[in-house]
Amino acid sequence: MNKNVNYFCKFEAILLKNLNLMATTAESKAKKSLKQDGYEQPDFYVLDDLLTEEHKLVRSSIRDFVKREISPYIEDWAQRAHFPYEIVKKFGDVGAFGPTLPVEYGCGGLDYISYGIIMQEIERGDSGMRSTASVQGSLVMYPIYKFGSEAQRKKYLPKLASGEWLGCFGLTEPDHGSNPSGMVTNFKDMGDHYLLNGAKMWISNSPKADVAVVWAKNEAGRIHGLIVERGMEGFTTPETHGKWSLRASTTGELVFDNVKVPKENLLPGKNGLGAPMMCLDSARYGIAWGAIGAAMDCYDSAKRYTKERIQFGKPIASFQLMQKKLAEMLTEITKAQLLNWRLGMLMNEGKATTPQISMAKRNSVEMALKISREARQMHGGMGITGEYPIMRHMMNLESVVTYEGTHDIHLLILGNEITGIPAFS
Ligand code: FAD
Repeated sequence: MNKNVNYFCKFEAILLKNLNLMATTAESKAKKSLKQDGYEQPDFYVLDDLLTEEHKLVRSSIRDFVKREISPYIEDWAQRAHFPYEIVKKFGDVGAFGPTLPVEYGCGGLDYISYGIIMQEIERGDSGMRSTASVQGSLVMYPIYKFGSEAQRKKYLPKLASGEWLGCFGLTEPDHGSNPSGMVTNFKDMGDHYLLNGAKMWISNSPKADVAVVWAKNEAGRIHGLIVERGMEGFTTPETHGKWSLRASTTGELVFDNVKVPKENLLPGKNGLGAPMMCLDSARYGIAWGAIGAAMDCYDSAKRYTKERIQFGKPIASFQLMQKKLAEMLTEITKAQLLNWRLGMLMNEGKATTPQISMAKRNSVEMALKISREARQMHGGMGITGEYPIMRHMMNLESVVTYEGTHDIHLLILGNEITGIPAFS
Protein backbone atom coordinates (compact mmCIF):
# COMPACT_ATOMS: atom_id res chain seq x y z
CA MET A 1 0.00 0.00 0.00
CA ASN A 2 2.86 2.36 0.83
CA LYS A 3 4.66 2.06 -2.46
CA ASN A 4 1.83 3.78 -4.27
CA VAL A 5 0.40 6.24 -1.84
CA ASN A 6 -0.58 8.61 -4.62
CA TYR A 7 -2.55 5.97 -6.38
CA PHE A 8 -4.18 4.87 -3.16
CA CYS A 9 -5.20 8.48 -2.50
CA LYS A 10 -6.52 8.67 -6.03
CA PHE A 11 -8.80 5.70 -5.35
CA GLU A 12 -9.85 7.13 -1.99
CA ALA A 13 -10.76 10.40 -3.67
CA ILE A 14 -12.72 8.53 -6.32
CA LEU A 15 -14.50 6.52 -3.65
CA LEU A 16 -15.53 9.67 -1.81
CA LYS A 17 -16.71 11.15 -5.08
CA ASN A 18 -18.75 7.99 -5.65
CA LEU A 19 -20.31 8.23 -2.20
CA ASN A 20 -21.26 11.83 -2.89
CA LEU A 21 -22.73 10.78 -6.18
CA MET A 22 -24.75 8.06 -4.48
CA ALA A 23 -26.14 10.71 -2.17
CA THR A 24 -27.67 12.41 -5.15
CA THR A 25 -29.85 9.43 -5.97
CA ALA A 26 -32.74 11.74 -6.68
CA GLU A 27 -30.87 12.95 -9.72
CA SER A 28 -30.02 9.45 -10.93
CA LYS A 29 -33.61 8.31 -10.38
CA ALA A 30 -34.70 11.17 -12.55
CA LYS A 31 -32.85 9.53 -15.42
CA LYS A 32 -35.71 7.09 -15.80
CA SER A 33 -34.59 5.86 -19.19
CA LEU A 34 -31.23 4.73 -17.81
CA LYS A 35 -30.79 1.20 -16.54
CA GLN A 36 -30.31 0.57 -12.84
CA ASP A 37 -27.44 -1.77 -12.14
CA GLY A 38 -28.19 -3.98 -9.15
CA TYR A 39 -25.19 -6.26 -9.66
CA GLU A 40 -23.98 -8.30 -6.70
CA GLN A 41 -20.79 -10.29 -7.09
CA PRO A 42 -20.84 -13.97 -6.13
CA ASP A 43 -18.04 -14.96 -3.71
CA PHE A 44 -18.93 -18.50 -2.71
CA TYR A 45 -15.49 -19.47 -1.36
CA VAL A 46 -15.03 -16.15 0.46
CA LEU A 47 -12.11 -15.11 -1.72
CA ASP A 48 -12.49 -11.67 -0.21
CA ASP A 49 -10.46 -13.03 2.71
CA LEU A 50 -7.49 -13.34 0.33
CA LEU A 51 -7.70 -9.72 -0.78
CA THR A 52 -5.90 -6.79 0.82
CA GLU A 53 -7.64 -3.56 1.77
CA GLU A 54 -6.03 -2.02 -1.30
CA HIS A 55 -7.52 -4.71 -3.56
CA LYS A 56 -10.96 -4.09 -2.07
CA LEU A 57 -10.62 -0.35 -2.46
CA VAL A 58 -9.60 -0.74 -6.10
CA ARG A 59 -12.58 -3.04 -6.65
CA SER A 60 -15.17 -0.78 -5.06
CA SER A 61 -13.80 2.19 -6.94
CA ILE A 62 -13.94 0.47 -10.35
CA ARG A 63 -17.28 -1.17 -9.59
CA ASP A 64 -18.83 2.17 -8.74
CA PHE A 65 -17.27 3.65 -11.88
CA VAL A 66 -18.78 0.88 -14.02
CA LYS A 67 -22.21 1.28 -12.40
CA ARG A 68 -22.10 5.01 -12.97
CA GLU A 69 -20.29 5.47 -16.29
CA ILE A 70 -20.88 2.23 -18.22
CA SER A 71 -23.95 0.24 -17.10
CA PRO A 72 -26.54 2.98 -17.73
CA TYR A 73 -25.37 3.52 -21.32
CA ILE A 74 -23.73 0.35 -22.57
CA GLU A 75 -26.80 -1.25 -24.10
CA ASP A 76 -27.44 1.85 -26.18
CA TRP A 77 -23.80 2.13 -27.26
CA ALA A 78 -23.73 -1.54 -28.24
CA GLN A 79 -27.05 -1.37 -30.09
CA ARG A 80 -25.79 1.65 -32.07
CA ALA A 81 -22.25 0.23 -32.49
CA HIS A 82 -21.03 3.43 -30.89
CA PHE A 83 -17.61 3.75 -29.27
CA PRO A 84 -17.95 6.39 -26.53
CA TYR A 85 -14.61 8.15 -26.99
CA GLU A 86 -15.12 10.22 -23.83
CA ILE A 87 -14.72 7.03 -21.77
CA VAL A 88 -10.98 7.08 -22.55
CA LYS A 89 -10.32 10.12 -20.36
CA LYS A 90 -12.60 8.69 -17.66
CA PHE A 91 -10.67 5.40 -17.68
CA GLY A 92 -7.51 7.45 -17.25
CA ASP A 93 -9.00 9.32 -14.28
CA VAL A 94 -10.04 6.10 -12.54
CA GLY A 95 -6.61 4.49 -13.03
CA ALA A 96 -7.64 1.75 -15.48
CA PHE A 97 -4.70 2.22 -17.87
CA GLY A 98 -1.44 0.47 -17.04
CA PRO A 99 -2.25 -0.04 -13.35
CA THR A 100 0.80 -2.28 -12.73
CA LEU A 101 3.33 0.14 -14.28
CA PRO A 102 5.35 2.52 -12.07
CA VAL A 103 3.84 5.65 -10.56
CA GLU A 104 6.73 7.77 -11.89
CA TYR A 105 5.13 7.48 -15.35
CA GLY A 106 1.68 8.39 -14.07
CA CYS A 107 0.65 4.75 -13.66
CA GLY A 108 -0.67 2.82 -10.67
CA GLY A 109 2.23 0.75 -9.29
CA LEU A 110 -0.33 -1.86 -8.26
CA ASP A 111 0.07 -5.64 -8.21
CA TYR A 112 -1.36 -8.15 -10.66
CA ILE A 113 -4.29 -9.11 -8.43
CA SER A 114 -5.39 -5.46 -8.56
CA TYR A 115 -4.95 -5.49 -12.33
CA GLY A 116 -7.09 -8.62 -12.58
CA ILE A 117 -9.77 -7.09 -10.38
CA ILE A 118 -9.87 -3.97 -12.55
CA MET A 119 -10.28 -6.04 -15.72
CA GLN A 120 -12.95 -8.21 -14.06
CA GLU A 121 -14.99 -5.23 -12.95
CA ILE A 122 -14.79 -3.48 -16.33
CA GLU A 123 -15.69 -6.60 -18.29
CA ARG A 124 -18.55 -7.20 -15.90
CA GLY A 125 -19.80 -4.00 -17.52
CA ASP A 126 -18.78 -4.91 -21.06
CA SER A 127 -15.99 -6.86 -22.81
CA GLY A 128 -15.58 -4.08 -25.39
CA MET A 129 -14.90 -1.56 -22.65
CA ARG A 130 -12.39 -3.95 -21.08
CA SER A 131 -10.76 -4.41 -24.49
CA THR A 132 -10.17 -0.66 -24.72
CA ALA A 133 -8.53 -0.64 -21.30
CA SER A 134 -6.47 -3.81 -21.66
CA VAL A 135 -5.16 -2.92 -25.12
CA GLN A 136 -4.04 0.46 -23.81
CA GLY A 137 -2.41 -0.96 -20.66
CA SER A 138 -1.00 -4.33 -21.70
CA LEU A 139 -0.42 -3.93 -25.42
CA VAL A 140 0.59 -0.28 -25.79
CA MET A 141 1.93 0.97 -22.45
CA TYR A 142 3.54 -2.32 -21.41
CA PRO A 143 5.79 -2.64 -24.51
CA ILE A 144 6.74 1.03 -24.31
CA TYR A 145 7.67 0.53 -20.66
CA LYS A 146 9.34 -2.84 -21.11
CA PHE A 147 11.13 -2.38 -24.44
CA GLY A 148 11.15 1.41 -24.85
CA SER A 149 13.91 3.94 -24.19
CA GLU A 150 13.63 6.27 -21.20
CA ALA A 151 12.76 9.11 -23.59
CA GLN A 152 9.93 7.03 -25.10
CA ARG A 153 8.60 6.14 -21.64
CA LYS A 154 8.56 9.77 -20.58
CA LYS A 155 6.99 10.94 -23.82
CA TYR A 156 4.17 8.40 -24.11
CA LEU A 157 3.35 6.74 -20.78
CA PRO A 158 1.94 9.70 -18.80
CA LYS A 159 -0.34 10.72 -21.68
CA LEU A 160 -1.53 7.15 -22.20
CA ALA A 161 -2.04 6.62 -18.44
CA SER A 162 -4.17 9.75 -18.13
CA GLY A 163 -6.26 8.94 -21.20
CA GLU A 164 -5.10 12.05 -23.01
CA TRP A 165 -3.92 9.68 -25.74
CA LEU A 166 -5.46 6.42 -26.92
CA GLY A 167 -3.24 3.65 -28.24
CA CYS A 168 -3.55 0.48 -30.29
CA PHE A 169 -1.44 -2.62 -30.96
CA GLY A 170 -0.82 -3.83 -34.49
CA LEU A 171 0.22 -7.45 -34.83
CA THR A 172 -2.51 -9.27 -36.82
CA GLU A 173 -2.51 -8.94 -40.62
CA PRO A 174 -5.10 -9.92 -43.22
CA ASP A 175 -3.16 -13.10 -44.08
CA HIS A 176 -1.45 -13.71 -40.73
CA GLY A 177 -3.60 -14.12 -37.63
CA SER A 178 -2.75 -17.21 -35.59
CA ASN A 179 0.66 -17.24 -37.27
CA PRO A 180 2.00 -13.70 -36.78
CA SER A 181 5.56 -14.80 -37.58
CA GLY A 182 4.52 -14.82 -41.24
CA MET A 183 3.81 -11.07 -41.19
CA VAL A 184 4.70 -9.07 -44.28
CA THR A 185 4.54 -5.53 -42.83
CA ASN A 186 8.10 -4.28 -43.12
CA PHE A 187 10.42 -1.31 -42.68
CA LYS A 188 13.60 -0.23 -44.41
CA ASP A 189 16.44 1.80 -42.96
CA MET A 190 16.63 4.98 -45.03
CA GLY A 191 19.52 6.52 -43.08
CA ASP A 192 17.76 9.26 -41.12
CA HIS A 193 14.37 7.46 -40.81
CA TYR A 194 12.60 4.14 -41.40
CA LEU A 195 10.15 3.59 -44.25
CA LEU A 196 7.18 1.48 -43.15
CA ASN A 197 4.86 -0.43 -45.51
CA GLY A 198 2.08 -2.97 -45.01
CA ALA A 199 -1.27 -3.37 -43.28
CA LYS A 200 -2.70 -4.64 -40.02
CA MET A 201 -6.24 -5.87 -39.51
CA TRP A 202 -8.66 -6.36 -36.60
CA ILE A 203 -6.97 -3.69 -34.50
CA SER A 204 -8.89 -2.64 -31.37
CA ASN A 205 -9.00 1.16 -30.81
CA SER A 206 -7.31 1.85 -34.17
CA PRO A 207 -9.85 4.29 -35.71
CA LYS A 208 -9.46 6.67 -32.75
CA ALA A 209 -5.90 5.90 -31.67
CA ASP A 210 -3.28 8.62 -31.34
CA VAL A 211 -0.42 6.12 -31.28
CA ALA A 212 0.06 2.59 -32.55
CA VAL A 213 2.65 0.07 -31.40
CA VAL A 214 3.28 -1.75 -34.67
CA TRP A 215 5.19 -4.99 -35.19
CA ALA A 216 7.05 -5.16 -38.49
CA LYS A 217 10.04 -6.92 -40.05
CA ASN A 218 13.30 -5.20 -40.89
CA GLU A 219 15.30 -5.98 -44.03
CA ALA A 220 16.84 -9.00 -42.27
CA GLY A 221 13.34 -10.37 -41.51
CA ARG A 222 13.61 -9.65 -37.77
CA ILE A 223 10.44 -8.44 -35.99
CA HIS A 224 10.69 -5.07 -34.21
CA GLY A 225 8.21 -2.76 -32.51
CA LEU A 226 7.74 0.77 -33.85
CA ILE A 227 5.66 3.60 -32.41
CA VAL A 228 3.60 5.14 -35.19
CA GLU A 229 1.72 8.38 -34.50
CA ARG A 230 -1.50 9.63 -36.04
CA GLY A 231 -0.71 12.36 -38.53
CA MET A 232 2.36 10.67 -40.03
CA GLU A 233 2.03 10.89 -43.78
CA GLY A 234 0.80 7.69 -45.42
CA PHE A 235 -0.68 6.29 -42.16
CA THR A 236 -4.45 5.65 -42.15
CA THR A 237 -6.81 3.73 -39.82
CA PRO A 238 -10.02 2.70 -41.64
CA GLU A 239 -12.78 1.45 -39.37
CA THR A 240 -14.16 -2.09 -39.56
CA HIS A 241 -17.97 -1.99 -39.72
CA GLY A 242 -20.66 -4.62 -39.28
CA LYS A 243 -19.39 -6.45 -36.19
CA TRP A 244 -21.98 -8.40 -34.17
CA SER A 245 -19.56 -8.49 -31.24
CA LEU A 246 -17.70 -5.88 -29.14
CA ARG A 247 -20.00 -3.32 -30.72
CA ALA A 248 -19.12 -0.59 -28.21
CA SER A 249 -15.42 -1.04 -28.96
CA THR A 250 -13.96 0.43 -32.12
CA THR A 251 -11.97 -1.87 -34.42
CA GLY A 252 -10.13 -1.12 -37.62
CA GLU A 253 -7.10 -1.48 -39.83
CA LEU A 254 -3.70 0.14 -39.82
CA VAL A 255 -2.45 0.95 -43.31
CA PHE A 256 1.15 2.04 -43.92
CA ASP A 257 1.94 3.48 -47.31
CA ASN A 258 5.58 4.59 -47.28
CA VAL A 259 5.26 6.00 -43.76
CA LYS A 260 8.41 7.82 -42.62
CA VAL A 261 8.94 6.73 -39.02
CA PRO A 262 11.58 8.65 -37.03
CA LYS A 263 14.44 6.44 -35.86
CA GLU A 264 13.78 7.32 -32.23
CA ASN A 265 10.38 5.59 -32.56
CA LEU A 266 11.88 2.09 -32.75
CA LEU A 267 11.52 0.16 -29.48
CA PRO A 268 15.16 -0.66 -28.69
CA GLY A 269 14.74 -3.12 -25.80
CA LYS A 270 13.74 -6.39 -27.41
CA ASN A 271 13.10 -7.77 -30.87
CA GLY A 272 11.82 -11.01 -32.37
CA LEU A 273 8.34 -12.51 -31.98
CA GLY A 274 8.98 -12.97 -28.24
CA ALA A 275 8.48 -9.23 -27.70
CA PRO A 276 4.83 -9.00 -28.83
CA MET A 277 4.20 -12.39 -27.21
CA MET A 278 5.30 -10.99 -23.83
CA CYS A 279 2.72 -8.21 -24.25
CA LEU A 280 0.08 -10.79 -25.11
CA ASP A 281 0.86 -12.73 -21.94
CA SER A 282 0.03 -9.64 -19.90
CA ALA A 283 -3.15 -8.95 -21.88
CA ARG A 284 -4.30 -12.57 -21.79
CA TYR A 285 -3.91 -12.56 -18.03
CA GLY A 286 -6.28 -9.58 -17.95
CA ILE A 287 -8.73 -11.41 -20.22
CA ALA A 288 -8.69 -14.43 -17.89
CA TRP A 289 -9.99 -12.17 -15.11
CA GLY A 290 -12.20 -10.11 -17.38
CA ALA A 291 -14.20 -13.02 -18.76
CA ILE A 292 -15.09 -14.05 -15.19
CA GLY A 293 -16.65 -10.61 -14.81
CA ALA A 294 -18.89 -11.24 -17.83
CA ALA A 295 -19.81 -14.68 -16.43
CA MET A 296 -20.62 -13.19 -13.01
CA ASP A 297 -22.91 -10.62 -14.58
CA CYS A 298 -24.79 -13.34 -16.51
CA TYR A 299 -25.05 -15.50 -13.38
CA ASP A 300 -26.24 -12.56 -11.27
CA SER A 301 -28.87 -11.63 -13.83
CA ALA A 302 -30.03 -15.25 -14.21
CA LYS A 303 -30.28 -15.68 -10.43
CA ARG A 304 -32.44 -12.59 -10.04
CA TYR A 305 -34.56 -13.22 -13.14
CA THR A 306 -35.40 -16.82 -12.25
CA LYS A 307 -36.46 -15.81 -8.74
CA GLU A 308 -38.78 -13.11 -10.12
CA ARG A 309 -40.20 -14.84 -13.21
CA ILE A 310 -43.38 -16.83 -12.44
CA GLN A 311 -44.45 -19.77 -14.60
CA PHE A 312 -46.85 -22.57 -13.63
CA GLY A 313 -47.66 -20.48 -10.55
CA LYS A 314 -44.12 -20.53 -9.15
CA PRO A 315 -40.83 -18.69 -9.61
CA ILE A 316 -38.92 -20.59 -12.29
CA ALA A 317 -35.97 -20.72 -9.81
CA SER A 318 -38.01 -23.31 -7.88
CA PHE A 319 -37.64 -25.86 -10.68
CA GLN A 320 -34.78 -28.31 -10.32
CA LEU A 321 -33.48 -27.71 -13.84
CA MET A 322 -32.98 -24.02 -13.09
CA GLN A 323 -31.28 -24.81 -9.80
CA LYS A 324 -28.94 -27.23 -11.58
CA LYS A 325 -27.95 -24.51 -14.03
CA LEU A 326 -27.38 -21.94 -11.27
CA ALA A 327 -25.39 -24.41 -9.16
CA GLU A 328 -23.18 -25.35 -12.09
CA MET A 329 -22.63 -21.69 -13.03
CA LEU A 330 -21.54 -20.83 -9.52
CA THR A 331 -19.25 -23.88 -9.38
CA GLU A 332 -17.52 -22.94 -12.63
CA ILE A 333 -17.16 -19.28 -11.63
CA THR A 334 -15.66 -20.30 -8.29
CA LYS A 335 -13.16 -22.70 -9.92
CA ALA A 336 -12.08 -19.99 -12.36
CA GLN A 337 -11.74 -17.43 -9.56
CA LEU A 338 -9.40 -19.74 -7.65
CA LEU A 339 -7.31 -20.53 -10.72
CA ASN A 340 -6.96 -16.84 -11.53
CA TRP A 341 -6.11 -15.86 -8.00
CA ARG A 342 -3.23 -18.37 -7.95
CA LEU A 343 -2.09 -17.18 -11.38
CA GLY A 344 -2.15 -13.60 -10.09
CA MET A 345 0.14 -14.58 -7.21
CA LEU A 346 2.51 -16.23 -9.70
CA MET A 347 2.41 -13.06 -11.83
CA ASN A 348 3.29 -11.01 -8.74
CA GLU A 349 6.29 -13.26 -8.14
CA GLY A 350 7.32 -13.08 -11.82
CA LYS A 351 6.90 -16.86 -12.10
CA ALA A 352 3.80 -17.24 -14.31
CA THR A 353 4.49 -19.08 -17.58
CA THR A 354 2.88 -18.59 -20.99
CA PRO A 355 1.12 -22.02 -20.85
CA GLN A 356 -0.28 -21.20 -17.39
CA ILE A 357 -1.70 -17.95 -18.81
CA SER A 358 -3.06 -19.84 -21.83
CA MET A 359 -4.84 -22.28 -19.51
CA ALA A 360 -6.46 -19.45 -17.55
CA LYS A 361 -7.52 -17.43 -20.62
CA ARG A 362 -8.92 -20.52 -22.27
CA ASN A 363 -10.70 -21.75 -19.14
CA SER A 364 -12.26 -18.42 -18.22
CA VAL A 365 -13.53 -17.57 -21.69
CA GLU A 366 -15.02 -21.00 -22.36
CA MET A 367 -16.64 -20.97 -18.92
CA ALA A 368 -18.06 -17.48 -19.51
CA LEU A 369 -19.36 -18.38 -22.98
CA LYS A 370 -21.14 -21.47 -21.64
CA ILE A 371 -22.64 -19.49 -18.76
CA SER A 372 -23.82 -16.72 -21.07
CA ARG A 373 -25.52 -19.27 -23.34
CA GLU A 374 -27.23 -20.99 -20.39
CA ALA A 375 -28.26 -17.63 -18.93
CA ARG A 376 -29.68 -16.64 -22.31
CA GLN A 377 -32.00 -19.60 -22.24
CA MET A 378 -32.94 -19.04 -18.59
CA HIS A 379 -34.17 -15.56 -19.48
CA GLY A 380 -36.47 -17.03 -22.13
CA GLY A 381 -37.44 -14.53 -24.81
CA MET A 382 -36.24 -11.65 -22.66
CA GLY A 383 -32.75 -13.10 -22.99
CA ILE A 384 -32.44 -11.93 -26.56
CA THR A 385 -33.29 -8.31 -25.77
CA GLY A 386 -31.21 -5.42 -24.52
CA GLU A 387 -33.30 -5.36 -21.36
CA TYR A 388 -30.74 -7.76 -19.93
CA PRO A 389 -26.98 -7.84 -20.52
CA ILE A 390 -26.87 -11.52 -21.49
CA MET A 391 -26.95 -11.49 -25.29
CA ARG A 392 -24.43 -8.63 -25.41
CA HIS A 393 -22.02 -10.55 -23.17
CA MET A 394 -22.54 -13.68 -25.23
CA MET A 395 -21.79 -11.94 -28.52
CA ASN A 396 -18.81 -10.11 -27.02
CA LEU A 397 -17.34 -13.33 -25.75
CA GLU A 398 -17.31 -14.71 -29.30
CA SER A 399 -14.52 -12.19 -30.00
CA VAL A 400 -12.81 -12.76 -26.68
CA VAL A 401 -12.58 -16.50 -27.42
CA THR A 402 -10.86 -15.66 -30.72
CA TYR A 403 -8.58 -12.69 -30.08
CA GLU A 404 -5.22 -12.78 -28.39
CA GLY A 405 -4.84 -16.39 -29.44
CA THR A 406 -7.85 -18.48 -30.38
CA HIS A 407 -9.29 -21.10 -28.05
CA ASP A 408 -7.64 -23.87 -30.10
CA ILE A 409 -4.27 -22.13 -30.32
CA HIS A 410 -4.17 -21.93 -26.51
CA LEU A 411 -5.02 -25.61 -26.39
CA LEU A 412 -2.05 -26.29 -28.70
CA ILE A 413 0.20 -24.17 -26.46
CA LEU A 414 -0.84 -26.44 -23.58
CA GLY A 415 -0.40 -29.54 -25.74
CA ASN A 416 3.14 -28.42 -26.56
CA GLU A 417 3.85 -27.83 -22.88
CA ILE A 418 2.58 -31.29 -21.92
CA THR A 419 4.18 -33.32 -24.69
CA GLY A 420 7.09 -31.19 -25.83
CA ILE A 421 5.76 -31.61 -29.37
CA PRO A 422 4.50 -28.46 -31.14
CA ALA A 423 1.39 -29.29 -33.16
CA PHE A 424 0.97 -25.84 -34.73
CA SER A 425 2.35 -26.68 -38.14
P1 FAD B 1 -6.99 -17.64 -38.23
O1 FAD B 1 -5.58 -17.60 -37.72
O2 FAD B 1 -7.18 -17.63 -39.69
O3 FAD B 1 -7.73 -18.88 -37.59
C1 FAD B 1 -8.97 -19.40 -38.10
C2 FAD B 1 -9.25 -20.73 -37.40
O4 FAD B 1 -8.19 -21.64 -37.67
C3 FAD B 1 -9.29 -20.59 -35.87
O5 FAD B 1 -10.29 -21.41 -35.36
C4 FAD B 1 -7.94 -21.09 -35.42
O6 FAD B 1 -7.95 -21.61 -34.11
C5 FAD B 1 -7.67 -22.15 -36.46
N1 FAD B 1 -6.24 -22.44 -36.62
C6 FAD B 1 -5.27 -21.61 -37.09
N2 FAD B 1 -4.08 -22.21 -37.07
C7 FAD B 1 -4.29 -23.45 -36.56
C8 FAD B 1 -3.45 -24.57 -36.26
N3 FAD B 1 -2.12 -24.53 -36.44
N4 FAD B 1 -4.02 -25.70 -35.77
C9 FAD B 1 -5.35 -25.76 -35.54
N5 FAD B 1 -6.20 -24.74 -35.79
C10 FAD B 1 -5.67 -23.60 -36.29
N6 FAD B 1 -5.10 -8.30 -33.33
C11 FAD B 1 -4.15 -7.35 -33.04
O7 FAD B 1 -2.99 -7.45 -33.45
N7 FAD B 1 -4.48 -6.25 -32.29
C12 FAD B 1 -5.73 -6.05 -31.80
O8 FAD B 1 -5.99 -5.05 -31.13
C13 FAD B 1 -6.76 -7.02 -32.12
N8 FAD B 1 -8.05 -6.81 -31.75
C14 FAD B 1 -9.04 -7.66 -32.20
C15 FAD B 1 -10.38 -7.36 -31.98
C16 FAD B 1 -11.38 -8.18 -32.46
C17 FAD B 1 -12.82 -7.82 -32.27
C18 FAD B 1 -11.04 -9.38 -33.16
C19 FAD B 1 -12.10 -10.30 -33.68
C20 FAD B 1 -9.72 -9.69 -33.39
C21 FAD B 1 -8.70 -8.83 -32.93
N9 FAD B 1 -7.35 -9.08 -33.22
C22 FAD B 1 -6.38 -8.15 -32.90
C23 FAD B 1 -6.99 -10.21 -34.05
C24 FAD B 1 -7.02 -11.57 -33.34
O9 FAD B 1 -5.95 -11.68 -32.45
C25 FAD B 1 -7.06 -12.65 -34.43
O10 FAD B 1 -8.36 -12.62 -34.99
C26 FAD B 1 -6.73 -14.03 -33.91
O11 FAD B 1 -5.37 -14.12 -33.55
C27 FAD B 1 -7.05 -15.12 -34.92
O12 FAD B 1 -6.54 -14.81 -36.17
P2 FAD B 1 -7.49 -14.91 -37.46
O13 FAD B 1 -8.72 -14.16 -37.20
O14 FAD B 1 -6.65 -14.52 -38.65
O15 FAD B 1 -7.88 -16.44 -37.56
